[in-house]
Amino acid sequence: EEAVRCTAVTKEFGTGGVVRALDAVDLTLRAGEFFSLLGPSGSGKTTLLRLIAGFERPTGGRIELAGRDVTALPPHRRDVHTVFQDYALFPHMTVEQNVAYALTVRGVRKPERTARAREALATVRLDGFASRRPDALSGGQRQRVALARALVDRPAVLLLDEPLGALDLRLRQEMQTELKELQRTTGITFLLVTHDQEEALTMSDRVAVVSDGRIEQTGPPLEVYERPATAFVAGFVGTTNLLRGEAAVRVVGRPGAYSIRPERIRLADPADAPLDGERTVTGRIADIVHAGAHTRFTIALPHGDRLTVHRQNLAELPPTARPEAEIRLVWDEKDAF
Ligand code: ADP
Ligand code: MG
Repeated sequence: EEAVRCTAVTKEFGTGGVVRALDAVDLTLRAGEFFSLLGPSGSGKTTLLRLIAGFERPTGGRIELAGRDVTALPPHRRDVHTVFQDYALFPHMTVEQNVAYALTVRGVRKPERTARAREALATVRLDGFASRRPDALSGGQRQRVALARALVDRPAVLLLDEPLGALDLRLRQEMQTELKELQRTTGITFLLVTHDQEEALTMSDRVAVVSDGRIEQTGPPLEVYERPATAFVAGFVGTTNLLRGEAAVRVVGRPGAYSIRPERIRLADPADAPLDGERTVTGRIADIVHAGAHTRFTIALPHGDRLTVHRQNLAELPPTARPEAEIRLVWDEKDAF
């Protein structure tokens, strides 16, 4: 079952100089999935959310919700809510009035409104905050009110535009877990927009990587990470060694653009012979940094290129792995994409 389908959606802005924010985007969300749109600032993520919500009309293409063409429908005729980065709470209303707002607009009676607002507040663990005003809440609590407000009338799809961007790291990680749980327990389709690759990879069932108004790749997080379809995806999702031209020929043996993940490269003694199916190159250790969970080696190749290698288990390193030493890099040829 499909929750959202975008077909060849294009959006252009501006009179005179035209900005093409989205260029023929195709995107399908399955009902009940947690989907992330991942891309750098300015790549068109917010524009796509605003089109799906109905705040903007596309220049071309079609948008369907649950199989129905909604391209020309206004926001209130779409079974969709949006949580904005700045939460957009009404400052003069209490938490409960904020949460009940969508129900008030639809003419739901007070007793039912109150009951459903309280229920939504309980879902985001804010029971007891109903009569406060937004300015008497912390950032994390305001974020939860915004969520409760968007969930109160059970939309089919919840759009979240960088909802955790304003929170500090610890709170952000806490809210990532909560959002994921909320999605699972409500079964609502979540479309999260983020520029944070770790956030997208850890939370989502599927991810679409966006660059410059186009979708570069769509797939489960592991697939996008392990098998990047383009050089942009390889570089934006996780750290990688990107090799082109001469460097690719020297290291991989064939021309083209290649990505090799830092954790896929093993360090060996220059005297050790490689095994079948292994690729190898010799270089000099330019730098060693202990970065918590792994150690990061920077290896200078004879012609000046540098590769990054991550190793977790220091016991497996050859005794020769010291700064300035010659070292052999070894990887499986299947790990160069
Ligand atoms: P993101 O959310 O990924 O940072 P946006 O969707 O906000 O990207 O913007 C994509 C591109 O469209 C940018 O170049 C931006 O400047 C442009 N853009 C977005 N909204 C407007 C607008 N209302 N008028 C003109 N240009 C816009
Ligand atoms: Mg944005």
